[in-house]
Amino acid sequence: MEFKNELARATFAPQRLASFCVCCGSEDLAASPAILMPFVADRAFGWRPVIIDDSWGLKTIQNGNAYSICKTLRCRRCGHLFCDIRFSDEEMNSIYSGYREEAYVSLRECYEPGYRERNNRLSQSITYKGDIEEFLSAFVKDPLTILDWGGDTGANTPFEKRRVSLDIFDISGKAVEGNARVVTREQATSSKYRLIVCAQILEHIPYPSDVLRLVREAMDKESVLYIEVPYEEVMRNGMENKENKKRHWHEHVNFYSQSSMDALLENCGFDILKRNELVTDVAGSEVHILQVACRLA
Ligand SMILES: [Zn+2]
Repeated sequence: MEFKNELARATFAPQRLASFCVCCGSEDLAASPAILMPFVADRAFGWRPVIIDDSWGLKTIQNGNAYSICKTLRCRRCGHLFCDIRFSDEEMNSIYSGYREEAYVSLRECYEPGYRERNNRLSQSITYKGDIEEFLSAFVKDPLTILDWGGDTGANTPFEKRRVSLDIFDISGKAVEGNARVVTREQATSSKYRLIVCAQILEHIPYPSDVLRLVREAMDKESVLYIEVPYEEVMRNGMENKENKKRHWHEHVNFYSQSSMDALLENCGFDILKRNELVTDVAGSEVHILQVACRLA
């Protein structure tokens, strides 16, 4: 399948530092300075924050804290807000292998005191599976075979009673629950599924079109793709020049707007069936989520 426009180069020439929008391909980007949070810099690159003092002997540098810097980019065409650093496959593996397991949690607790307690709350299953099932009910067909792309253990995958099979592809390498089956990328893309779930994934992915291109291979005309991403506060408010508000980046390297998600899906050859902004509760906090159902165009 050919991508429609300039986004095609994301597939063929991924950049270390993005110079175009990863949703619509535009080069019309606003920029502001930001930092890469130390936990992510440490996991991805082994870079730790330092305090520069006189012992460093630097003549033209002022003393003080040094963090890994980056840029916040905002696409003037579709509104996508993103970090300019785009992690390689190896760096993604460094960040996400053993995701939220002990080594991950203890390092993160070091940088972000209180994380361990928060992680315990986040480890509960989501409470809005019923909302996802209702959102998708008009589109999914039996027998319901599901591929959960980035599905972790499968604990949050919808349609537990209705589905006849559940395959999970995930780079975290965790064991999965119940009757779910772990599949490789090759196994996933050589099968066809009635429903593909891609929930809380695309905000982490350097080039989301890469994932969508692979997901397409597991779809036919009966297939529905369900996507959900956080709908962050800075994206929901009417503020202009959002790049001046977003001064740090963590694991979520993409903040989607309604129109950047639409642009991404259109450019990757999908027709949108339905979209929704879900307001729900996760680990005791109110969150807003963008939900989209789509099929092959
Ligand atoms: Zn864009």
